[in-house]
Amino acid sequence: MRIEDRLFLNRFLPDDRSHLVIREPENCRRCERKQCTYTCPARVYTWEGERIQVAYEGCLECGTCRIVCNEFHNIDWHHPRGGFGVVYRQG
Ligand code: SF4
Ligand code: SF4
Repeated sequence: MRIEDRLFLNRFLPDDRSHLVIREPENCRRCERKQCTYTCPARVYTWEGERIQVAYEGCLECGTCRIVCNEFHNIDWHHPRGGFGVVYRQG
């Protein structure tokens, strides 16, 4: 099964508050590579206009963005609150 098909099996219970918070938007403007935009497997981060948009509802909770944002450490990363977030389904 293709990875896209596997990801389609997941279900999401989004919270009304983001568990991924950009600490300082100005740091994203200074960030040359903007590596969060191409390393997140769920495409949560996009650069639009002059700021990072965070579509936290689709987060897979893999932790990649927390690691790759290694110049500015600009992502305040938490798991979603209990009862919210991704629900993985195997198959
Ligand atoms: S990698 Fe970090 S500092 Fe760079 S754009 Fe993404 S969140 Fe901002
Ligand atoms: S934890 Fe993983 S899926 Fe969620 S925003 Fe970060 S890189 Fe994307």
